[in-house]
Amino acid sequence: MNAPAPCCPPAGVTFPIYLDYGATTPVDPQVARIMCDFLTDKFGNAASSSHAFGWEARRAVDKARAQVAGLVGAQLGEIVWTSGATESNNLALKGTAHALRSQGRGKHLITVATEHKAVLDTMHTLERAGFDVTFLQPGADGLITLDQFRAALRPDTILASVMYVNNEIGVIQPIAALGELCAERGIVFHVDAVQAAGKIAIDLQTLKVDLMSFSAHKVYGPKGIGALYVRHNPALKLEAQIDGGGHENGMRSGTLATHQIVGMGEAFALAGRLLDEEGARIRALRDRLWAGLSDLPGVQLNGCALHRVPHNLNVSFPPTRYGTLASQLLGIAVSAGSACNSAAAAPSFVLLAIGRSPEVARNAVRFSLGRGTTQAEIDYVAATVRQVMTLDAAELHS
Ligand SMILES: *Cc1c(COP(=O)(O)O)cnc(C)c1O
Repeated sequence: MNAPAPCCPPAGVTFPIYLDYGATTPVDPQVARIMCDFLTDKFGNAASSSHAFGWEARRAVDKARAQVAGLVGAQLGEIVWTSGATESNNLALKGTAHALRSQGRGKHLITVATEHKAVLDTMHTLERAGFDVTFLQPGADGLITLDQFRAALRPDTILASVMYVNNEIGVIQPIAALGELCAERGIVFHVDAVQAAGKIAIDLQTLKVDLMSFSAHKVYGPKGIGALYVRHNPALKLEAQIDGGGHENGMRSGTLATHQIVGMGEAFALAGRLLDEEGARIRALRDRLWAGLSDLPGVQLNGCALHRVPHNLNVSFPPTRYGTLASQLLGIAVSAGSACNSAAAAPSFVLLAIGRSPEVARNAVRFSLGRGTTQAEIDYVAATVRQVMTLDAAELHS
């Protein structure tokens, strides 16, 4: 028998418990302090080249660019600031597809059915603009295979987009090998790496990736800022999606949001320094949580157990008589399916795409762990879930 969960928080736990770091993260206090400086004192426009206010802002933007580039092995000139990864994905896909079409290249694009909506909906828009898109169906483990990818290639394939780490189930796609396949055939390869940055080591010196999307707010930086890595390649000039003053080499106009940018830079630098230590700590906590849940009857892990970031545990539970488990975890912030879909009652399209039944998908809980997660919290959550599930089973059979 397991001890029932306490009715008030045990030592070291305050309510509500946040286990939704996959949806967003708090801004690290160190990051917030630096951002404040650039809102008040150091408010210059980085494009003002005739005075010290502008120079100071320009230097800060350059430093942040180096910090973001540094986390992923990119060159300074390969980082383009955007308003977030949604915009990065739009710029990468529309910018490439339209640029290549105007060069008379093909019109076939490849992606995966479990991508983030910012990729899927962009692909649907491109379909309406006359491109052909193949949506690969991953296996039950959430992964696509190289054979499957190879089989989808056509002579007119120009662009492929595969996310590094899935936001709902945390699985890691074989990006290095897919990059090799694309490079051999001259196919532009885009990777949404929002859920990978700061969680696993990324080295764009060795990866054959042309475009990579990042967001600050999944890495303890502010919301509303992101970046697109654009590999230096004179043969590919992305078509801008926002026109104006020609900032960011003409790829993305608009006055640079200096405070957001320094925040993203600092957050990425911090993530690099913490990567190994934090990853090991979070892996131990995630494994402890799974050990506390996996023996409950009818529990299923969603997504590959092996090729997975430490920060994610997505589990389907049998429904209780009072509804889904997620609806009964009062004081515990988790995601049922994905944040983007949690307003709708529809089961997660990601879980359906990997072959889960609507019932199993609807009863999934995504626990996503992060920098603030403690062992006391994990133990409380495991005990609470056990209590809800075992009480329900006991009542059912009484
Ligand atoms: C959060 C997320 C996005 C969107 O990023 P925003 O900066 O919020 O626009 C894109 N892709 C993935 C995988 C994400 O997790």
